Amino acid sequence: MTTAKLIDGNALAKNIRAEVAQRTAALKQKGITPGLAVILVGEDPASQVYVKHKVNDSREAGLNSVLERYPATFDEGQLLARIRALNADPSIHGILVQLPLPKHMDANKVIETISPAKDVDGFHVASAGALLIGQPGFWPCTPYGCMKMLESIDYELRGKNAVVIGRSNIVGKPMALMLLQKNATVTICHSATRDLKAHTLQADLVVAAVGKRNVLTADMVKPGAVVIDVGMNRNDQGKLCGDVDFAGVSEVAGWITPVPGGVGPMTRAMLLVNTLQAAERTAR
Ligand code: NAP
Repeated sequence: MTTAKLIDGNALAKNIRAEVAQRTAALKQKGITPGLAVILVGEDPASQVYVKHKVNDSREAGLNSVLERYPATFDEGQLLARIRALNADPSIHGILVQLPLPKHMDANKVIETISPAKDVDGFHVASAGALLIGQPGFWPCTPYGCMKMLESIDYELRGKNAVVIGRSNIVGKPMALMLLQKNATVTICHSATRDLKAHTLQADLVVAAVGKRNVLTADMVKPGAVVIDVGMNRNDQGKLCGDVDFAGVSEVAGWITPVPGGVGPMTRAMLLVNTLQAAERTAR
């Protein structure tokens, strides 16, 4: 018996992309075409797929998206110089460096070279700091997409117990801060957490961002809870799956996001939103 309602990331992302396309058209009337530079260094197969999607999505929405590809042997100094040139280029409003970078490069140094005004991935320390203290800035696309999913079901976070499983800088930590900003009582769990189930059973909302299958099973979920599955894993058949035992948890949860078709498309959509916002700011 399935009880949980589905939060359809594909449908929601489609609406967001349509809205971005509309706002982009309006901005073009003012003579500004939002420009996104996507930088890929090396041949990582997953990264190649991701950047292709990002570039295609943005072009479909009417943005000017430029893909710059460099070999894995590319010099860090040259990459930094290229980023500085893009920082100074008025036709580019957002700069994204696809991670992971080759081992000889210092990813922090590379990200910190991006102008905070163009940091549409939201990974710069200035963006992280702005989120921490509640100032306007770019929010990392994945947790931002999760917030939009909660908004889409009119979920009132005030006073709710939220458990975030995972504490990475790009998902878990910013997710927790966004939920805190909306007045949830937030617990962050990680690999050293003792008795994860004791925490999740208290949760009105669970966000799983771990990267391991079946981190969250039906016995760990409070009836009616909202469950957001950020994880991207492969099952025994090689099919994409999340961190959540979807079939089992669907029988207990009130709302659940699927994998695929959940957080993934939302992450992609929020990159367009951030880029558009970066361009709109220059129009003011
Ligand atoms: P990450 O940097 O590897 O972080 C994983 C987190 O999970 C860490 O904080 C780790 O704890 C914690 N963890 C590991 N084992 C655990 C356990 N047994 N119980 C509780 N916590 C545990 O990964 P990430 O970049 O945040 O990504 C997480 C997942 O989301 C991955 O599957 C990734 O592919 C996926 N993802 C999806 C999207 C999307 O668009 N759908 C976007 C980004 C990421 P420690 O800190 O103690 O090591």
